[in-house]
Amino acid sequence: MDTLLQIRNLTVQFQTDEGLLTAVDQLDLDIHKGEVLGLVGESGSGKSVTAQSILRLVPSPPGHIASGSIHFEDVDLLALPIRDLRTYRGSRIGIIFQEPMTALSPLHRVGQQLVETLRLHHDISKAEAVQTSIEWLDRVGIPDASQRMRNYPYQLSGGMRQRVMIAMVLMLKPELIIADEPTTALDVTIQAQIFDLIREMKADSTSVLLITHDMGVIWEMCNRVAVMYASEIVEAAPVEPLFRSPRHPYTKALLNSIPSIEKPDQRLETIPGNVPSALDYPEGCHFRDRCAQAKQRCAAEHPPLYEDESAASRCFLSDPQHPLGDNANE
Ligand code: ADP
Ligand code: MG
Repeated sequence: MDTLLQIRNLTVQFQTDEGLLTAVDQLDLDIHKGEVLGLVGESGSGKSVTAQSILRLVPSPPGHIASGSIHFEDVDLLALPIRDLRTYRGSRIGIIFQEPMTALSPLHRVGQQLVETLRLHHDISKAEAVQTSIEWLDRVGIPDASQRMRNYPYQLSGGMRQRVMIAMVLMLKPELIIADEPTTALDVTIQAQIFDLIREMKADSTSVLLITHDMGVIWEMCNRVAVMYASEIVEAAPVEPLFRSPRHPYTKALLNSIPSIEKPDQRLETIPGNVPSALDYPEGCHFRDRCAQAKQRCAAEHPPLYEDESAASRCFLSDPQHPLGDNANE
């Protein structure tokens, strides 16, 4: 499969009052053409920072990209002059944030922002841009779209603003859409509508990096999934095998925490213990304190990503030299 985006050895750190924090540690990730890749993991695992890194939106200071390359086709986005990066933002790579106010100007009417964005990227008349903007507001489920064009962002509800931002990103038809928990603030009907739109884009061979903490969304939407824990990818695989036979104990725990019909309130937080602090990850495996299968080796050595044709897992249980870990009898 053709690779559209290739992240290699990405390390991102933040200078904080408590010290240097590693949000993303030597991360490798590929996004293929036309796939929806899910990136899942608990809050604080480094998903958003990974997404921000692609368009160099990590706030700096306090953050900085300490190492790595991010190739979009043949171009390393991390090595480009910022001026050249602008030709990628929006038109080739679109990003939908959790917080819409970071993408919308509070000073301008919604319609003006949509029309100007369209005309910046496409050679169309103002009338055509107005028409397209209204169509997109309609597609993301905004009632009375032509009226809403006249509103300022503060006059809209949070969910409405989120939909405006989604329209603004999708209408440019980028080759890669990065969606960071795009529907968290939206009710389920609108959520379904947004996911339908993303599916349509995928049918047009757009690639999507979909960030979520919800395994149910991954199952519904994605071809492949990468599981992130405490700054690292701990497992990556196509969705079906990952759900059928997860390899990493953390992935298993995430799957066990999918809310069921009987217990709809049950969420990821039901995994015992907490994500360790990014200021001070433990030696060895980052998950070992919460892992029922942890052995001595897990404290002594940091597990590499064990990879075969179908999946990759950062756990000694997947070490082909030691099928059960070399200290399985302890
Ligand atoms: P996720 O999206 O998986 O919830 P993030 O990528 O937002 O996690 O955060 C990863 C780590 O980086 C966390 O420890 C978080 O506190 C830290 N972090 C993210 N943004 C900043 C920032 N602007 N300043 C300081 N620390 C940050
Ligand atoms: Mg996040």
